[in-house]
Amino acid sequence: MKKTGFLYDERYQLHKTGHYHPEVPDRLDCIYRGIKEAGLLPKLILFEASPADMKWIQLVHNESYIRRFEAACSAGKRTFDSPDNQMCCDTYEISLLAVGGIIDVVGRVMQGELDNAFCAVRPPGHHAEVGNAMGFCYFNNVAVAARYLQNQWGIHRVGIIDFDVHHGNGTQHIFEDDPTVFYYSIHEHPSFAYPGTGREFENGKDIGHGYTKNSPVLPGRGDDEYRRLIRKDLLPSFDEFRPEVILVSAGFDAHIDDEMADMQLSTEGFSWIMQKIVEMGNLYSKGRVISILEGGYSLKRLPELAKNHVEILLNA
Ligand SMILES: [Zn+2]
Repeated sequence: MKKTGFLYDERYQLHKTGHYHPEVPDRLDCIYRGIKEAGLLPKLILFEASPADMKWIQLVHNESYIRRFEAACSAGKRTFDSPDNQMCCDTYEISLLAVGGIIDVVGRVMQGELDNAFCAVRPPGHHAEVGNAMGFCYFNNVAVAARYLQNQWGIHRVGIIDFDVHHGNGTQHIFEDDPTVFYYSIHEHPSFAYPGTGREFENGKDIGHGYTKNSPVLPGRGDDEYRRLIRKDLLPSFDEFRPEVILVSAGFDAHIDDEMADMQLSTEGFSWIMQKIVEMGNLYSKGRVISILEGGYSLKRLPELAKNHVEILLNA
């Protein structure tokens, strides 16, 4: 059994999004409960978070954005940059805790204390741009993790796999001209879904050309189409790129019972994807797979999805 880290901190629930917002604190309760009730907690190595050192966040976000975010939060603003981004007076601090917890876990994987990990954080990150909050996201968690791997650990090839049902516009834009980070995303087709990016022809810029790959999926499709596209687009790309570490933007909102999108991925479909990811981790990355929570809004399905997710990491 692998040494699997589980980042879970009750303070992540202090980021309040208000009534009628789908990105609710209860999501984390459901994830924790699913893992606990399956008896998996004793098999995992649990971590609580500490705030991130600002120098890591500054590798992704510009100074003026960070200051604007902090100021909006301390001024008691209820939204930031977009009406989707509802927040409370703790949101800035909790966002620092999300990044800080992830950085800590990534460091432990690099030191060999952990083989792999699941980071159940809020707020999510993959829509956050260098200087803009978007789509419930403030700091781009996975992007900071990738920059940390490059800067602190001298990693030359980071592979990011984003299976959230929405395209990770922020992550793509941050790395599209960087040939040392391969960004792969499978998501609902941008003609039908937020945020409207992630078409097949978006495949990197300048020297980063060929290091971004998008698999848009038409509404109503499910397991078969995900399997086909992952076999066609992701597996050969990573076989060529050979990432030294794999980061996962794990969004569970492509589930058939998730109302945020029109995908029909089953619980087993998610397990198949994660199984392929850990297999690639074993082949190319010494098993170093660090999964970071993005979306996923079906409170009914999150317990089983999270349970299967960490079980696959444990048995990787
Ligand atoms: Zn999403």
